[in-house]
Amino acid sequence: MTETFFPEKFADRVDTAGPLIGTAPAAAGRTTPAQAWGAQRENGPIAPMPIQRRALLPDDVAIDVLYCGVCHSDIHMVRGEWGAQPFPMVPGHEFVGRVTAVGRDVTRFAPGDIAGVGCMVDSCCACDNCMAGLEQYCTNGATLTYASPDTRGPGQTMGGYSERIVVRDRFAVKIPDGADLATTAPLLCSGITTFSPMQHWRLGSGQRFAVIGLGGLGHMALKLAVHRGAETTVFTTSADKAKDAYAMGATDVVVWHPTANDPIPLAKELANRFDFMLSTIPSPYDLAPFLPLIRRDGAFVNVGAPGLIGGVTGGALWDQRRSLVGSCIGGMPETQELVDYCCANAIRPQIELIHPDDITQAYLRVENKEVRYRFVIDLAAGKTAQA
Ligand code: NAP
Ligand code: ZN
Repeated sequence: MTETFFPEKFADRVDTAGPLIGTAPAAAGRTTPAQAWGAQRENGPIAPMPIQRRALLPDDVAIDVLYCGVCHSDIHMVRGEWGAQPFPMVPGHEFVGRVTAVGRDVTRFAPGDIAGVGCMVDSCCACDNCMAGLEQYCTNGATLTYASPDTRGPGQTMGGYSERIVVRDRFAVKIPDGADLATTAPLLCSGITTFSPMQHWRLGSGQRFAVIGLGGLGHMALKLAVHRGAETTVFTTSADKAKDAYAMGATDVVVWHPTANDPIPLAKELANRFDFMLSTIPSPYDLAPFLPLIRRDGAFVNVGAPGLIGGVTGGALWDQRRSLVGSCIGGMPETQELVDYCCANAIRPQIELIHPDDITQAYLRVENKEVRYRFVIDLAAGKTAQA
């Protein structure tokens, strides 16, 4: 990532002479203080943290955040499980809020609109992938919503556990009128991450789909697959989730035991069964028990663990011409498509709404597989408490 792509890099170098629209201070070329919730150090608690938001650039929107989901990625990042990260850190990469001001070049948003933001807030917008609307694969490196060097302001990006944010308009999606906002927030990460591979590998009716892990991503995958008419099996380590899985439309539920000698009960009966298996397991795991369950030309798609996935043999991939692939969130056009699709078809995550002061405790409940099925932070509640 170089300044060549971002000649407008720092806010204080920006020409703000043209009219910026809205009442937020950011529109008047000033930075704005914002109450946020973040970690001061690796593994630290999530506590109130005042931050500054940059002044608006001509293609920016300022958003008052209303609801932000808690993704397991936030926990990995705060815990340092994905390597050393910059601190202080304000996590949060699936949120919705009200637009308060727009830069003079913004045409898609006006003050008062509801906007959503996911895992990215910038990219080069010029490489082949960005031109194809696949900004998450930007060959110059997309700017993540938090803990990335900020290409448009000083320091690191700070995410959605915050009462307001400023983002480049291309990286905000429009939220349809009348959408329930708390249950829309998780679509911006858990929804798009599971939708995108279903689109790419064309999951459709009559196919047999399996999702491994019924958490934030997994339960969205289940709901999306069921809506597409796929016969869906849930692999869960939590027997008590079976009832919920059936209520969400699962055809079958397999309770499996990752550390057992035979982790998957009835594995022989399930051989060559699935067209598409999607893993949302958040930690390194052994693939060997799952590969034989994939039918000819089927795919195993990993959207979970970015670390080591063991147990892959060349032979298990030869056999039945199986594919082993991964997928990363989704591009901006596809994210808009997913939000519109879920709102039009009433596909909604099951959420637990929490106050910002309860995020630290919520992390523990996610790690213990206790969340049903996505925590969403009510930022407006935090604001009231501060007032
Ligand atoms: P989550 O809510 O914690 O769900 C993960 C589920 O996996 C758990 O509910 C549990 O389901 C199962 N699980 C947990 N630990 C396990 C273990 N050790 N062995 C086997 N199964 C286990 O997490 P999430 O927010 O859905 O995120 C899942 C993963 O996707 C995280 O690693 C996250 O960082 C990653 N992610 C990737 C992308 C991407 O673009 N590729 C985007 C977002 C998130 P059961 O109780 O049903 O077994
Ligand atoms: Zn996420």
